[in-house]
Amino acid sequence: MSRSLAGIIPQRVADADVIVVGAGLAGLVATAELADAGRRVILLEQEPEPWLGGQAFWSFGGLFFINSPEQRRLGVRDSHELATRDWMATAGFDRQEDHWPRKWAEAYLAFAAGEKRSWLHTQGVRFFPVVGWAERRSDRPDGPGNSVPRFHVTWGTGPGVVAPFERRVRDAVARGRIVLKFRQRVDALTTHGGTVDGVRGAVLEASSVERGRPSSRIAIGDFELHAQAVIVTSGGIGGNHDLVRAAWPARLGTPPHQMLTGVPAHVDGRMLAVTETAGGSVINRDRMWHYVEGIQNWNPIWPGHGIRILPGPSSMWFDALGSRLPAPLFPGFDTLGTLAHLRATGYDYSWFVLTQRVIKREFALSGSEQNPDLTNKDIGLLLQRVISKSGPAPVEAFKDHGADFVVANNLGDLVRGMNALTDQPLLDAAKLEHEIAARDQAIFSTATEDAQIQAIRTARGYLGDRLIRVAQPHRLLDPAAGPLIAVRLHILTRKTLGGLQTDLSGRVLGSDGSPLPGVYAAGEVAGFGGGGMHGYRSLEGTFLGGCLFSGRTAGRAAAAILA
Ligand SMILES: Cc1cc2nc3c(=O)[nH]c(=O)nc-3n(C[C@H](O)[C@H](O)[C@H](O)COP(=O)(O)OP(=O)(O)OC[C@H]3O[C@@H](n4cnc5c(N)ncnc54)[C@H](O)[C@@H]3O)c2cc1C
Repeated sequence: MSRSLAGIIPQRVADADVIVVGAGLAGLVATAELADAGRRVILLEQEPEPWLGGQAFWSFGGLFFINSPEQRRLGVRDSHELATRDWMATAGFDRQEDHWPRKWAEAYLAFAAGEKRSWLHTQGVRFFPVVGWAERRSDRPDGPGNSVPRFHVTWGTGPGVVAPFERRVRDAVARGRIVLKFRQRVDALTTHGGTVDGVRGAVLEASSVERGRPSSRIAIGDFELHAQAVIVTSGGIGGNHDLVRAAWPARLGTPPHQMLTGVPAHVDGRMLAVTETAGGSVINRDRMWHYVEGIQNWNPIWPGHGIRILPGPSSMWFDALGSRLPAPLFPGFDTLGTLAHLRATGYDYSWFVLTQRVIKREFALSGSEQNPDLTNKDIGLLLQRVISKSGPAPVEAFKDHGADFVVANNLGDLVRGMNALTDQPLLDAAKLEHEIAARDQAIFSTATEDAQIQAIRTARGYLGDRLIRVAQPHRLLDPAAGPLIAVRLHILTRKTLGGLQTDLSGRVLGSDGSPLPGVYAAGEVAGFGGGGMHGYRSLEGTFLGGCLFSGRTAGRAAAAILA
């Protein structure tokens, strides 16, 4: 018999020191840390083995660093203090239960300003030299967003982030420290004398479906395993529209009737309820991060598969009735501010209107499979982005095959095409022309009051944007910049900002605020730490980073307490 964590109550015979539930990034990091500390781990995953890495495999691999060498080389002046100001203004912590989330935010900021980059670098992770400026801050001094570029795309995108941790885990499997078990779905946490001491669940039938597609949920058996601690790293709720709608906050209006899904079906949120049943507390359920620039994937992998455009600032943004979105709701600025505005229009979609010149420079599609040059570390293909007249091949493929794209040589045809995509022809060509012509007239004026044009100029003041990310200012109605392009944009579910409440060691807390013995959580299921370290809004690139930090923290803490 081994001793329980509390050291008082005899425990059932342990199958391992620690059981980790979910082999996404957070689970891999926690497992690797535990194995390196000499612990025996069982890592359970409901999906087949080739899916190791969870959402991170599909991700763009964007990571938030503060004052990195890449930023400094581009002349960006960043600091821990500036990033803290940006984070706190963006998070807007205002609840009593924000105690641990705020502490996690502070700890994460110190990590991102400190050892995060060198820790990854020593494990072989490298970064694209041009730092992106995702979730830009407008010139409102107290507003949300990044006041400087901080989005570092990993060389190799999401798979490049997963690789070193998968390698460490597989090495430890070879050393006999870790046992990987796939197609094992955890349905309950077991408890003994008030301490979580294991898991119970179903063995799912084997599946050979392509990664990311829904796999069978037919159970062919069951299992029960015991350990001194369980770490839950099961991801968020974005693949479960029922849970998203149930938690949708009134401040974002009513939930959309139609949403695209930005995550695979395994992001089902089930483990939240499972951990709650065992006594864990879930907080900030109503905080979530959905995008407003979703497009239907013409070549879908999972059901309702949407891709997020990471846009540059030049596209004009119109609501379903053809009214231009007000400042500062420009492409790539305030995601949730724009979402709240669009929900008030009563329609589930909006429009970008742009030119070929803009799409070539300014459309980045989030996702490893949408960026074969960066994912496959293919420098020849990467150079094509810069020298080719067309956009990157995946963007051009959307232009040719995407259900939301309209391409035309004149505005009349464009608006006819846009109206043909919707149930009712809501757009008036004359109204749109008036708006676009007014913007075009102001584009070269030094005295313009058009805030979006000013934002484009500010962006081009940053070398990285001027080099590859923000198109040279031009008239949208100039045929030489054409053809004209319209893109219908949908709301796309993605990240869960609330979750299991944890202390700074990653221990799951109960409703009375004290640790629930034997159980830890990390990654998206824990709101990336504390039950919501982002608060209401996020600064981008902080989700993968949140998995790295919280997975590492929980793994190290569990390893230490077992010592
Ligand atoms: C297309 C895309 C692009 C993205 N781009 C970025 C980016 O550039 N930067 C950034 O910071 N973030 C990005 N993200 C977000 C980021 O990838 C995720 O937030 C993060 O990877 C979540 O990791 P996780 O380990 O917490 O959960 P997941 O990756 O969801 O892994 C959880 C695992 O647990 C398993 N599981 C769940 N329940 C059970 C159960 N009951 N029993 C057994 N196993 C279970 C699941 O099958 C899954 O494998 C992106 C996400 C997507 C989808």
